[in-house]
Amino acid sequence: MTRPFSKRTRAVHGGARRSQYGELSEAIFLTQGFAYDSAESAEARFIQAGEDEFIYARYGNPTVRMFEDRVAQIEGAEDAFATASGMAAVSGALMAMLRAGDHVVSARALFGSCLYVLEEVLTRYGVEVTFVDGTDLEQWRAAIRPDTKAVFFESVSNPTLEVIDIAAVSDLAHAAGATVLVDNVFATPAFSDAIAQGADVVIYSATKHIDGQGRALGGVICGTQHFVRKVVEPYMKHTGGSMSPFNAWVMLKGLETLDLRVNAQADSALAIAQGLAEDNRVITRYPGLADHPQHDLVQRQMGKGGTVLALEIAGGQDAAFRFLNALEIVKISNNLGDAKSIATHPATTTHQRLDDAIKAKLGITPGLVRLSVGLEDPVDLLADLRMGLAAAQG
Ligand SMILES: *Cc1c(COP(=O)(O)O)cnc(C)c1O
Repeated sequence: MTRPFSKRTRAVHGGARRSQYGELSEAIFLTQGFAYDSAESAEARFIQAGEDEFIYARYGNPTVRMFEDRVAQIEGAEDAFATASGMAAVSGALMAMLRAGDHVVSARALFGSCLYVLEEVLTRYGVEVTFVDGTDLEQWRAAIRPDTKAVFFESVSNPTLEVIDIAAVSDLAHAAGATVLVDNVFATPAFSDAIAQGADVVIYSATKHIDGQGRALGGVICGTQHFVRKVVEPYMKHTGGSMSPFNAWVMLKGLETLDLRVNAQADSALAIAQGLAEDNRVITRYPGLADHPQHDLVQRQMGKGGTVLALEIAGGQDAAFRFLNALEIVKISNNLGDAKSIATHPATTTHQRLDDAIKAKLGITPGLVRLSVGLEDPVDLLADLRMGLAAAQG
């Protein structure tokens, strides 16, 4: 699309490609390969593939390309590369750009698998990683060095919902010539202006809000055309973590309703946070609440507080388990961004691997429950949560 339509319009129409049939809904090109008219045209395409020319679905397929173009347009990025999962996007973006001897600075509060990639995988290949408290700009300033190649953080951390100042950290990183990679899952493309705020690379697990209905795995790396096509694509093309055409189609349809869904979910999340604010059986943390330590930053950076709450249930793990087991509507699971509300006990599931000292440092306490707010009626959800809190008291 050439005119500067709003995000909502781009989310419905961006990147559409139509075959000779003029199908209105995007087609699923469930094909691995593409037949060439002649040996000469095969040779020519391997030298330089045109805009509508594909070679092999590991690095290009019309349905996948529609998804990539649509996400890039929503995000305001030059280009995007779709991956098999969010972790294929996180690990792919980092592995594609880093080499032995490079230095990376990362926020410490990360999704468990992101932490594994930074702490266990990159370091195995000779990349030095320094972890900082992402909300403390002084720590970023002290850790970023002239030889720092990349800076990585989750703009809203999973599961403790710390919010990191994209513009301020990007300024510090750019002064050292480092590339800023932001895992922006909790902000969702709907509440993101990350590229304009200074991020160089914006990464999503499409498994979460982009699908939004808990069906398929996927991820996407947004960035400059040079980064996406010259750095990421060669790495993904030869290592294989690309998105399937069927999943790209699911995600394309998800993008059409993303803005409506996540706005409704964020409004419900705020109503629930307000509904629980005075309840002394739980401490509620939500970036959209006025008492969140970074509320001003949240307003500036995201507009709304997102779709996830952190609930500290009074009484520790036993109380948290009684709370979870009493819920009727809210399901116990470890996904988020789904139409169905989901509650997770991070200390015993997503972050189980971490030792107790690290958990304590990250704020992953025995009583912590992560709540992903879905599309159900918030009045029903609040009643369900209050029932859980009553049960938590034993
Ligand atoms: C879920 C998640 C991922 C990983 O995404 P998958 O699609 O499950 O691989 C990465 N980062 C964050 C912040 C997440 O919440």
